[in-house]
Amino acid sequence: SLSDRLTGSLKDLRGKGRLSASDIDAVCREIRLALLDADVALPVVRAFIARIKERAKGAEVSAALNPAQQVVKIVNDELVGILGGETRRLTFAKNPPTVIMLAGLQGSGKTTLAGKLARWLKTQNHTPLLVACDLQRPGAVSQLQIVGERAGAAVFAPHPGTSIGGGENALGVSAADPVEVARAGVAEARAKQHDVVIIDTAGRLGIDAELMGQAAGIRDATAPDEVLFVLDAMIGQDAVSTAEAFQDGVGFTGVVLTKLDGDARGGAALSVREVTGRPIMFASTGEKLEDFDVFHPDRMASRILGMGDLLSLIEQAETVFDAKQAEDTAAKIGSGQLTLEDFLEQMMAIRKMGPIGNLLGMLPGAGQMKDALASVDDKQLDRVQAIIRGMTPAERADPKIINASRRLRIANGSGVKVSDVNQLVDRFFEARKMMASMAGRMGMPGARKQVQ
Ligand code: GDP
Ligand code: MG
Repeated sequence: SLSDRLTGSLKDLRGKGRLSASDIDAVCREIRLALLDADVALPVVRAFIARIKERAKGAEVSAALNPAQQVVKIVNDELVGILGGETRRLTFAKNPPTVIMLAGLQGSGKTTLAGKLARWLKTQNHTPLLVACDLQRPGAVSQLQIVGERAGAAVFAPHPGTSIGGGENALGVSAADPVEVARAGVAEARAKQHDVVIIDTAGRLGIDAELMGQAAGIRDATAPDEVLFVLDAMIGQDAVSTAEAFQDGVGFTGVVLTKLDGDARGGAALSVREVTGRPIMFASTGEKLEDFDVFHPDRMASRILGMGDLLSLIEQAETVFDAKQAEDTAAKIGSGQLTLEDFLEQMMAIRKMGPIGNLLGMLPGAGQMKDALASVDDKQLDRVQAIIRGMTPAERADPKIINASRRLRIANGSGVKVSDVNQLVDRFFEARKMMASMAGRMGMPGARKQVQ
């Protein structure tokens, strides 16, 4: 998998100071192979790799991340970018009803999606009407009726085996003509105050001209606000040709990926997005109506990379670490001038990352701080924080001035015992001395890099 491959090549990067051209090439080779493995189309892979190389070359060496993390971040950012950045929302018509037409191969999940969309729209106070225009496949109409019932949405369908002309719909159209049913469905929605119409259409197992003609006919008859191309994420390399055929034959405004509960790694998402330029709007993750969500590019990116945990740690590390501040602190540590203010800042930065025990290990050069805090749990840290906050800026900057009367005032002010204040101040001086001597032993240039 990409995760395995990247982990392998990233291991080689660990400990290096900056990204060299050959580092970048080595990682890109792995990413390329892995994306092909994940069924991303070749031209898409090529374009992707080219962008990664460009960005990696120009990347600033971050103080918060080591080179390995930095490469992963670049790959992830690019992937999120291609997958669409922010999720696009449905476009609603100024004059209801909003018409949403579903198109895609048979079995891609259109009818199921119709129910999911209806359910989801209902939670947002819309009043969707489902329209059954798959008159090809036996049972398709009743499938939509079942799905609509589950979603609590009305379904417009021709009566089985009859012309719907004389029926209660009084439409005067042939039951066998999906275009007429679609047109009548929209009229029905307008008459009965449904603000959204979802048109379920027929699909074929493969692309064929008749299918496309019919879909285009429905499109022309109903002027949809959205045409959603429904794509089975398991389709792999066929995603590109299928998407292109639907783009040429019908056109679509958005993509829905289905069957993401399977083990597909998401190569189809990347290919279709890149080749058609259309946003992926929704994701379907199971057979139940609630197995559905708007599409999240960031989640898909980490699925494709298979590195979700690593990515969220990188994100946290980046938000809490300010390079300049880290460097200043390192200099102060090296010269034994760390203040309680710095100490508190460091502690706050580390705490933002969650339970300290799990997280200190991933900070580049957090060793000293980790040692200094090793015996301190989160609850104790709360107290330490309260004590330092109870000090004046002058006391924080120069803890030597914290005499007995000051200690009493600080203890009272922060609701702790004087002995707690004593302990903190003692520990601070110890830690400061220890860190300075460690930094000294490593030599200043090394110490500056190590201690962040
Ligand atoms: P259509 O031919 O495009 O209308 O596809 P259907 O909606 O009939 O779906 C085909 C099959 O795929 C049905 O058995 C659905 O239950 C199933 N299905 C649809 N969406 C999903 C999904 O997201 N995950 C899984 N596991 N099955 C799905
Ligand atoms: Mg169907």
